[in-house]
Amino acid sequence: MIEVSGLTKRFRDRTAVLDLSFSIGRGEVVGLLGPNGAGKTTTLRLLTGYLPATSGTVRVAGFDVFEEPRQARRHIGYLPEVPPLYDAMTVRRQLRFAAELKGLGRALLPAEVDRVAGLTGVTEVLDRLTSNLSKGFRQRVGIAQALVGDPDVLVLDEPTVGLDPIQIREVRDLVRTLGGRHTVILSSHLLPEVAMTCSKVLVLNAGRLVDFDTLDGLIARHLPGRKVTLDDIAFLEEIFGKLVTPA
Ligand code: ATP
Repeated sequence: MIEVSGLTKRFRDRTAVLDLSFSIGRGEVVGLLGPNGAGKTTTLRLLTGYLPATSGTVRVAGFDVFEEPRQARRHIGYLPEVPPLYDAMTVRRQLRFAAELKGLGRALLPAEVDRVAGLTGVTEVLDRLTSNLSKGFRQRVGIAQALVGDPDVLVLDEPTVGLDPIQIREVRDLVRTLGGRHTVILSSHLLPEVAMTCSKVLVLNAGRLVDFDTLDGLIARHLPGRKVTLDDIAFLEEIFGKLVTPA
């Protein structure tokens, strides 16, 4: 569903992402993990075609995001680092606007707004102004926007950042339910989040892909012989430390 090959992005003399290649199959939920400045946001912007690459290709649902951006974007829902919410709009208007931008016909708009609001638990705030929402609800509205049009691929940049522990759990549960039907790639600094939500982990360090595997695969290779459960997040901290610290 997502195929990345030789992807590189330079900003003047700074290389943000260097020669990334990986593919993600339909219905997988992949966590993009890395320290500050590792290139997570840049990678997600490249995947959505929001930012042009210096070199390399990205195909989503078979379309090249740089050569065929309109077709590719029809298959992508994107929650950027800061959700694009217009404070003067109600949530309903906001979601309707997102659906219009996705090219949905007028007749389909009310049902689509109700559908994504139901999925993300924002039905009760549909007629409130987005400026009056709590951070948790703003984030849910951002995810609802990404879900408009039922895209195959969801790209979520730090979906739980700034939320309290209860909101984090709610958003995490929501993301988990989206896997299978949608292919999801999300970025996070939070190791537990990735362990609890994702079927695979892609680790970036200084713009390079340093590992990409299932949690079981990471444990087997980096902590051989160690008995760990997924409730024990210390194991991922240890693997992460091995991967992002220069030898
Ligand atoms: P964080 O976890 O702090 O959000 P990140 O892993 O998302 O970090 P990026 O924001 O992708 O990392 O940044 C990767 C590198 O590219 C950093 O060194 C950053 O300073 C640089 N960078 C990102 N965007 C730009 C830009 N528009 N112009 C110049 N440099 C940039």
